[in-house]
Amino acid sequence: MKELIFIPLAGIGHLVSAIEFAKQILNRDEKNLSISVLIMKLPLDFGVQNFIQSLTSQPRLKFIDISLDEQTSSRFLNNHETFLYDFIDGHKSYVREYVQNISKTSSCSAFILDMFCTSMIDIANEFNVPSYIYFASNAAFLGLCLHFETLRNEQNLDTSKYLNSNEALSIPTFKNLCPANVVPEHLLDSRLASTLFFDGIRRFKDTKGIIINTFFELESFSLQALSDSKMVPKIYPVGPVVSFEKSGHCRNNSTETESIIKWLDEQQDSSVVFLCFGSMGSFEAEQIREIATALEHCGHRFLWSLRRSPPKGKTDIPSSYNNYEEVLPQGFLERTKEIGKIIGWAPQVAILSHPSIGGFVSHCGWNSILESVHFGVPIATWPLYAEQQMNAFLMVKELGLAEEIKMDYVADFEGKNNQVDVVSAEEIEGCLLRLVVKSEENEVRKKVKEMKEKSRVAIEECGSSYNSIGLLIKDVITNI
Ligand code: UDP
Repeated sequence: MKELIFIPLAGIGHLVSAIEFAKQILNRDEKNLSISVLIMKLPLDFGVQNFIQSLTSQPRLKFIDISLDEQTSSRFLNNHETFLYDFIDGHKSYVREYVQNISKTSSCSAFILDMFCTSMIDIANEFNVPSYIYFASNAAFLGLCLHFETLRNEQNLDTSKYLNSNEALSIPTFKNLCPANVVPEHLLDSRLASTLFFDGIRRFKDTKGIIINTFFELESFSLQALSDSKMVPKIYPVGPVVSFEKSGHCRNNSTETESIIKWLDEQQDSSVVFLCFGSMGSFEAEQIREIATALEHCGHRFLWSLRRSPPKGKTDIPSSYNNYEEVLPQGFLERTKEIGKIIGWAPQVAILSHPSIGGFVSHCGWNSILESVHFGVPIATWPLYAEQQMNAFLMVKELGLAEEIKMDYVADFEGKNNQVDVVSAEEIEGCLLRLVVKSEENEVRKKVKEMKEKSRVAIEECGSSYNSIGLLIKDVITNI
């Protein structure tokens, strides 16, 4: 038996996707391969612990906890800038030990690494084993990272000149010029965290290939640009890798999920707008009131995942409200009780796959985008953090698969700005009215329906992503 070592980052968007992909590999290869997923628990929960606890090893798929003790891993938090990289490096000896142990009974064939875990290539090299990256975002963003790595490290360009600028940039994985204000800040600034990020990106070239959670029909332009580049190792578009776990990654109990689905069952097809802003998304009271006003005015049915922001300056996941009335306009719940439902953590896949959902106001996390495309639900973009502004640009301008509420909105997680932009009720309402129109004339809706079919075909037998996974398995086995 040949063993693949998966080293994902334990954030929900990265971990769930990597594990789902591991399962897909095993479904495709019935005899040659087994997989060990090495889990490095982050010192902050980020709502992932329940999910990790629910993981049970099964034949050929093992979950191995290599977490550091709490004290050691919390110590890394003292240095905010280097935290992630110190934390990952802190696990190297455990990875080495694990590979040494399994080498007694099986042979390690490849490391499949999260994009942030490239320092583990050193360990793979010690065992003379090839490494691959599992890139949980899209091909356009991969191109953006590689492009900026070249600008910074090879052309010595000071990219911080693009911070807070509207300059239009030419990037090989984009058809259109890309405004600098949708490029994540950490790709542009010159802080230590950015330098470490690009040191990691530079090491992509030391791998045998990059596995991307996208599919050819969705991102043909960007994928072609990557394939054409001599700088990029072989790429494998294998998406959409979506977890069809109906319970929202174990955070919703079955009663909650049932009550939500029962409510959706009572609504007409394509009539409900779903609002959900990812694992970290939340808003302050003023913004919540604008959203509420927009929902009430536009009159669409709605299902809104509304969660409380952590205290200013504290890095944590949003929590549940005990009483929604404390943040909503007076009387809102009573006035909208026939058309709307407010929930905490959402069983998102179960919701997006329900026929009553007609539109999705999303923070544009890549998993959410793939889920929405896979179920044919048009998105209204409202990015908050990470590469989501760029994802919104990709969806609205490059692919024509989403309506824009905002593309350059940035959430103020670190509490740096006293004056956070507030998106007005009028802006939100205008977009909601465009989003949930039944008319076949609606170009975005039409395109999303077409992409839904392509998304299904891509993962079916002989589809583009299906073939790409087959090729990867063949390459991994041949590389041994
Ligand atoms: N998710 C969910 N319920 C929620 C919020 C998020 O089930 O209330 C899931 C969502 O379906 C997706 C993942 O969590 O699979 C979020 O990943 P994404 O890349 O969209 O955003 P992130 O949370 O990483 O920013």
